[in-house]
Amino acid sequence: VKKQGRNGYRFFERRMNAEVHLQMQLKQDLRRAIQRHEFVLHYQPKVKAPDGPVSGMEALLRWHHPQHGLLSPDRFLPLAESSGMIIEIGNWVLDQACRQMKVWSELGHEELTVAVNLSTVQLGSSSLVNEVRLALERHALPPSRLVLEITESTAMGDAEESFSVLNRLSALGVSISIDDFGSGYSSLLYLKRLPANELKIDRGFVRELKRGSDDEAIVRAVIALGKTLNMKVVAEGVETREQQALLAELGCHSLQGYLLGRPSAPETLVLGNSGSGES
Ligand code: C2E
Ligand code: CA
Ligand code: CA
Ligand code: CA
Repeated sequence: VKKQGRNGYRFFERRMNAEVHLQMQLKQDLRRAIQRHEFVLHYQPKVKAPDGPVSGMEALLRWHHPQHGLLSPDRFLPLAESSGMIIEIGNWVLDQACRQMKVWSELGHEELTVAVNLSTVQLGSSSLVNEVRLALERHALPPSRLVLEITESTAMGDAEESFSVLNRLSALGVSISIDDFGSGYSSLLYLKRLPANELKIDRGFVRELKRGSDDEAIVRAVIALGKTLNMKVVAEGVETREQQALLAELGCHSLQGYLLGRPSAPETLVLGNSGSGES
C-alpha cells in the first residue's frame, strides 16, 4: 500500500510538472502569437428577438496554436491577464474588430454593431480610452457602432478607476454592455452608477429556462430592470426553441446563442440571414 502510494505520488508530481511546463510553454508562445498572426476573431450574431434580423456581432478571440490547435479564451486568457500581455492582445482585438466592422459596412451593413469583450486588466489602464478612440479613427467608424462588453466583476474590480475609464468611454460615444449579468457579486447601486446601454442576461438563467420556473421570474425581473434603466436587454446561451419563444415573450430585445448562430470566422458568416453559422 505504501509503495503504491509513493508511485501514486510520483505520478501526481509528474503530472503537475507537465502542467507547469505546459503553462510556461504557452506563456512563451503567447508572447509571439501576435507577430506570428496566430490569433483570429470569430463572430457570433446578436439577433433581434425572436429570429432576426442580426443587429450586432460579438467578437470572440481564438488562438491557432501551432501544436495545440484552436484554443478558446479559457485556455489562455488567465495567462494573458496575469502576464499583462492582455493589454497588447486586447488592443489587437479592438483594431481587428474595427477592421472587420469596416468590411461589413462597405458591404452595406451600415447599422451593424460590433462588440468586443474587455478584461478587468484593460479597464484598469487609462490608455484604454485612447486605444479605443484610435481604433475607431483608424477605420473611420462612428463610436456608436462599437459595443464594449464588461463583466460585473470587471466593473467591481477597482471600482473608482473603472468608473472613471467607463465614463470617459461613454463620453466618447461607444456603447457599454454589462456581460454575464446576475452571475457576479452584483450590486444594484453599481448598476445605477454604470453608464451602460445594454445588459446581457447570464447563460446560467437561460440554460434551464422554462415557463413557470424560478429562472423565468428572474429573467422577467431583469428585463423589467433593464427597461426601467433604459437599457437594451440581451439573453446569451439560447439553444432551444422553447428558450427563444419565452425570452421573446418576456420582452428581451435580442438573443444570442447556438440556436441563432455559432461563433464563426467572418468569411463563413452570412449576414442578412439569421441562420446558424459553422464553428
Ligand atoms: P462571454 O463573453 O460570456 O462569451 C460567451 C461564450 O459562450 C463564448 O465562449 C461563446 O462561444 C459561448 N456560447 C455562445 N453561445 C452559446 C450557447 O448557446 N451555448 C453555450 N454553451 N455556449 C455558448 P468563448 O468564445 O469560449 O469565450 C469565453 C469567454 O472568454 C467569453 O465569455 C469572454 O468573457 C472571454 N473572451 C472572449 N474573447 C475575448 C476577448 O477578445 N477579450 C477578452 N478580454 N475576453 C474575451
Ligand atoms: Ca461577452
Ligand atoms: Ca457569458
Ligand atoms: Ca464572460
